[in-house]
Order: sequence, then structure tokens, then C-alpha cells
Amino acid sequence: NTEDPWRPFDKFRVYMADLESTLHYSLRVELGAQSVFQGRALTSLKAYISVLAKYFPGRPIVTNLLKDLNSWLQKQTGDRISYETFKEKLENDAQSPNSTLPDGVRWVGCQGSQPHFRRYPCGVWTLFHVLTVQANSKGSDPQEVLRAMRSYVHNFFGCRECAGHFENMAAETLEQVTSLPTAVLWLWSRHNVVNNRLAGALSEDPQFPKIQWPPPDMCSACHAVKDNGEHTWNLTEVLKFLLTYFSSDRILTDYLE
Ligand code: FAD
Repeated sequence: NTEDPWRPFDKFRVYMADLESTLHYSLRVELGAQSVFQGRALTSLKAYISVLAKYFPGRPIVTNLLKDLNSWLQKQTGDRISYETFKEKLENDAQSPNSTLPDGVRWVGCQGSQPHFRRYPCGVWTLFHVLTVQANSKGSDPQEVLRAMRSYVHNFFGCRECAGHFENMAAETLEQVTSLPTAVLWLWSRHNVVNNRLAGALSEDPQFPKIQWPPPDMCSACHAVKDNGEHTWNLTEVLKFLLTYFSSDRILTDYLE
């Protein structure tokens, strides 16, 4: 049976299987669409792998691979690297006993009711939320993760229309991010802008409607009402919620190989 079985999951939790699947797809499939990295694409690749090496809260075998890949990549001084060279290094590392990146995807919290729904784009959002939350406690440059995400999406994200939209949002407001907690909140609020735009669109999985997130049943304290009756967010509570929801010690390891 080659069909992917449905994996029951808790909608209120983040799964390492989704994060590892996202890394697999990003490093082996999406980046593999490039034949060579040079100029801005090379800078972008280096910034992305660096952020993963610093902040990906994974299993030691996976973080070892990311750190090794990063130190190799940062040592490359030429003005271009072919994807073949990058892949050779990646697959070589993936065979060593203490480092690996599972080959293939196993979506859990990012499963869709149909194969064309959710999955990798869901994984990309989840990955970067997790990374901004990790950077909040471990980083120092408030824009480091978001700049890496912006340039990754701009240079490599397969959905080119999405990349254009995201680049416009980043160009408009990323400069306003001047602290680590604001970076966490910036990505949350931009994600809600995208959810708002996509609600009811063909790309929406009917089983997972686009909502302003987190909904009240996930975080009632996050929601507030202004004097004039309009909905507003309690940003202190939202931040608290995001720091817990995406924190490394709450990530579930079910369904890992
Ligand atoms: P996603 O929106 O992928 O969210 C994944 C999970 O994150 C959700 O299940 C939820 O648990 C959590 N979440 C939801 N909202 C938030 C929030 N505000 N903050 C934190 N966590 C949240 N698709 C298009 O059709 N057009 C586009 O222009 C487009 N632009 C995109 C830009 C980027 C950078 C990315 C990564 C994706 C984009 N997509 C776009 C894809 C789209 O946003 C969804 O990822 C896709 O439709 C799958 O949706 P989903 O239901 O899995 O939820």
C-alpha cells in the first residue's frame, strides 16, 4: 500500500516530524531546483543554513548535520557553489553515524485532507515560527531569522506568487522589527494577514479553514474587545502564547523514524 496513512494528531501542538519533513523538502527538493548558487542566492543559502544551525531545536543527529553543513558552507570562499556540490556534502553527512536527515516526508500536524493541501508551505510557516521563538531566547540580532526567511522565500520558495506577496510585506514593515520579541510577533501578524487574504480561496483545505490565529479556544486571553466593541489582540498574551506554543520543549516527537 503506497498511500500515506492518516496520522492522528493534536491540533494544538507542533510536531518534529513536520519540521524534519520541511528540512528534507527544502534541502533536497526545493533547493535542488537551483543548479548553482551565486551572488544573492549564495548569500541567501548561507544565511538560511546558518540560522538552521544556530536555532533548529532538533534531535542531536539532525542538529549535528546542520552544524556540520553550516561550517562547511561558511568556509566556501568561491563566488559560486553548484547544487551538486552542496548535495554531495549533505548526503555524505547524512550517512555518518551521528548525523542524518530522514529521507522523505512524513506530515503530521501539516497533513492535508487532500495531497495538494497544506504540507510543505504549512511546514515552512511552522519552521520559521519555531526559529523566531528559539532566537528570542538564544539570539541577539532581532532581524536575523526574518531576514534569512525573507531571502529564502524570495530566492527559493517554489510558490512564486507567494514569494512576491511575502517580499512586499517584508519590504514594507520588516525594518520596524527592533527587538527579538517583536520578531516573533511580526511573523505571527504577517501570517494572519496571509490567512486573511487566503480565507475562502481555492488553496484552502476545507478541513483546515484559514482563521485569525490563535482562535479563542486556543488562547482566550489573546483576544480582547476595544471600547467601541471592535476585536483587538492582547499582544502581551499573544507573545506569551507564541513563546509557549512554539517552544522547543513542547514539540512532539511522535511518528519520527
Ligand atoms: P498555514 O497557514 O500554512 O499555517 C500552518 C500552521 O501554523 C497552522 O496549522 C496553525 O497551526 C499555525 N498558524 C496559523 N496562523 C498562524 C499565525 N498567524 N501565527 C502562527 N502560527 C499560525 N498561499 C497562497 O495561496 N497564496 C499566497 O500568497 C501564499 N503566500 C505564502 C507565503 C509564505 C511565506 C508561505 C510560507 C506560504 C504562503 N502560502 C500562500 C501558503 C499558505 O499560507 C498556507 O501555508 C497553505 O495554504 C497551507 O495552509 P495551512 O492550512 O496548512 O495553514
